[in-house]
Amino acid sequence: MTRFPEELLPLHELTEQDRLLVRAAQDVIQRNYDEENSNHTVGAAVRCKSGKVYVGVNVYSLHGACAEQIAIGTAITNGEREFEAIVAVRGRQGEEILPPCGNCRQILHDYMPECEVIVSVKGTPKKIAAKDLLPFSYTVEG
Ligand SMILES: [Zn+2]
Repeated sequence: MTRFPEELLPLHELTEQDRLLVRAAQDVIQRNYDEENSNHTVGAAVRCKSGKVYVGVNVYSLHGACAEQIAIGTAITNGEREFEAIVAVRGRQGEEILPPCGNCRQILHDYMPECEVIVSVKGTPKKIAAKDLLPFSYTVEG
């Protein structure tokens, strides 16, 4: 598989607020990690323009929901419409920063193209705008 060279991507450094966001995602999966059935293994946290942070864990099923979707849905349920940054982590301690899946990338692109997504680049957390994670993306307008 040919990989896009990271140095060509518009990556940004994390702020202290972003590090707190990663910690919020780690905290929610540490509290909810499902040792028995592995139904909940990913935690996510989204920071809104209001400054509030909403968290979620994945809900495993054949067509289950990713942790990002639960966090975004909770934020929207609470009236939030503008998003600054999002991160998902996997593992008992949330030790692995997880890039969004294809479906989540489409959701991020549709709902919050300017929102920054925290990803791991060669083991170092960086941020990239959601719109830059899905080149040649599908849009309804065409
Ligand atoms: Zn996903």
